[in-house]
Amino acid sequence: MLKLFIAVVAVALIYWIWTKKNQILPKRNDESEPFITTIEAIELKTFLDWDTPVSCLESDGTRYGRQFKQKTPPELPHEQGCRCETTKLFYTSEDVFQGTSPVTKHKSALGDLCSKDALLLKNILLEIKKESSNGSFAELMDKFEVNDFSDEIRTKAISLAEQAYQQSQSK
Ligand SMILES: [Zn+2]
Repeated sequence: MLKLFIAVVAVALIYWIWTKKNQILPKRNDESEPFITTIEAIELKTFLDWDTPVSCLESDGTRYGRQFKQKTPPELPHEQGCRCETTKLFYTSEDVFQGTSPVTKHKSALGDLCSKDALLLKNILLEIKKESSNGSFAELMDKFEVNDFSDEIRTKAISLAEQAYQQSQSK
């Protein structure tokens, strides 16, 4: 009976040491972690249209997460008319270093846009909506390199901007 008791205690002791070891080991692993780490981010993207609210345009492209200045995305919708979406992104610190963080398509009233077109369109819309501009639409557009728009969407992007402009003037 005593032998059995000793055996049980021995097994319990071994088990206890084993669990302790497991608790200690992961910490050691952290220290020797490679420089490349995976970063998880939540990216906010707005739907670009002539009536997209300013607050949505402003927060478009913002990334949230543990490694970012802003940890958690805001409650959506921002306001009435908000069509923002958040998507999860995974990339490595290597991507960030090389400037190759993931490129995603951007939803808009003109269909999916590449990031270059989306950025230009967003900046034009922001200018229209933020400036209560006295100038004409042509003057406003002169501030931008409209020729940077991809050929297939240029005309449509300009007419979308014009629609936003006319709406801002009629306020
Ligand atoms: Zn929004």
